[in-house]
Amino acid sequence: MFTSQLVKRFSKLSTPFYYYDISVLEKNLDSLSHLLKPFNKVFFSVKSNTNPKILKTINNYNLGIDAVSFNEIKHCINNGFNCDDIVFAGVGKTDREIENGIKNNISYFNVESLQELELINSLSNNLSKVTNVSIRINPNIKCDTNKKIQTGSSDDKFGIDLNDISYIPKLNQLSNINISGIHFHIGSQLIDLSPFISLCKKSNEITSYLKENGLNIKTINVGGGLGIDYEEPEKNLISNFKDFIHLFNTKINLDDNQSIHFELGRSIVGQCGFLVSRILYSKKSYNKNFLILDSGMNNLIRPALYNSNHKISNITSNQNTYLNYDIVGPICESSDTFARNYPLVKSERGDLIVFHSCGAYAESMSSNYNLRDNINSYFSDTI
Ligand code: PLP
Repeated sequence: MFTSQLVKRFSKLSTPFYYYDISVLEKNLDSLSHLLKPFNKVFFSVKSNTNPKILKTINNYNLGIDAVSFNEIKHCINNGFNCDDIVFAGVGKTDREIENGIKNNISYFNVESLQELELINSLSNNLSKVTNVSIRINPNIKCDTNKKIQTGSSDDKFGIDLNDISYIPKLNQLSNINISGIHFHIGSQLIDLSPFISLCKKSNEITSYLKENGLNIKTINVGGGLGIDYEEPEKNLISNFKDFIHLFNTKINLDDNQSIHFELGRSIVGQCGFLVSRILYSKKSYNKNFLILDSGMNNLIRPALYNSNHKISNITSNQNTYLNYDIVGPICESSDTFARNYPLVKSERGDLIVFHSCGAYAESMSSNYNLRDNINSYFSDTI
């Protein structure tokens, strides 16, 4: 993947920077697109990556957009997506954001509380519109992922309580909304797919209940959450869309006019991105070998925020002895640590270090903390 020619090119660039391998992105999009049935639609979860070039590539595959703020919606419209391919989730949409979504005729809102539903009705009334909404239901399913990215258990803030679904058919009588679907998203980075089987069961129960009570919904949006291989990314550059899509397409009971919608982020873009940085200093302190890089938690916050692990490679060293390193950034916080006791070839000041699997939730979660500069992004087809 990192040929000597590419490493030579990297060596001339100022670090740190993100590098995107567009062919990895396209292979994931090809694999996903080939599995979709006419009753499937995928919305790319743009929170995972907002880079315009990445969005342009995704737009070539006819995916819609799952947005969680009106700024994300605006950004996607500016980057060529159609409003009627955009869905809008988020537990705390402001009145202004809702109005803007209505005015722009987005496909539908994923509504996270009954109060929000009434607000959408009233704002739609003011604008003389009827707005499509899909009700996000919290199905109370626990999954084996970091607690901070689990979103569908009873103590999470998202969606409406499963026990409140009896209100839904009545609320559909509000004159300025049309309840066109239900929505779930139970968590992110799920490798074990069994929670999705529980989700299908709950979804089937809910759709039958709604049908019995006179509400025939059109879309069942099962969210995203498919995990990627952070430990050995090169062995699994293409995500396991096959099992994921097949699971829902076989386990969700669908009527003729119904569709299954997906909102995938990490599994589409995760493996195509890398963070490339340079070792500023190597030092021994007490019993530890520290490598201090020029990239920090402001460029890749996942390890500090979720204790997550990324594969780390030294792509310039010729050494063949290994040492255990604490690999850290320059930010003035001890949480600015990418890995502890990480086995790496003997590394020195000036070596280039690559963090793998940085296509999702790296650039999009970056910040200017410590007033550090924004960093550049480079792409395999133009570098
Ligand atoms: N849908 C919703 C509502 C989300 O909150 C998220 C992520 O947080 C996603 C989809 C995408 O998740 P993933 O990137 O794990 O596919």
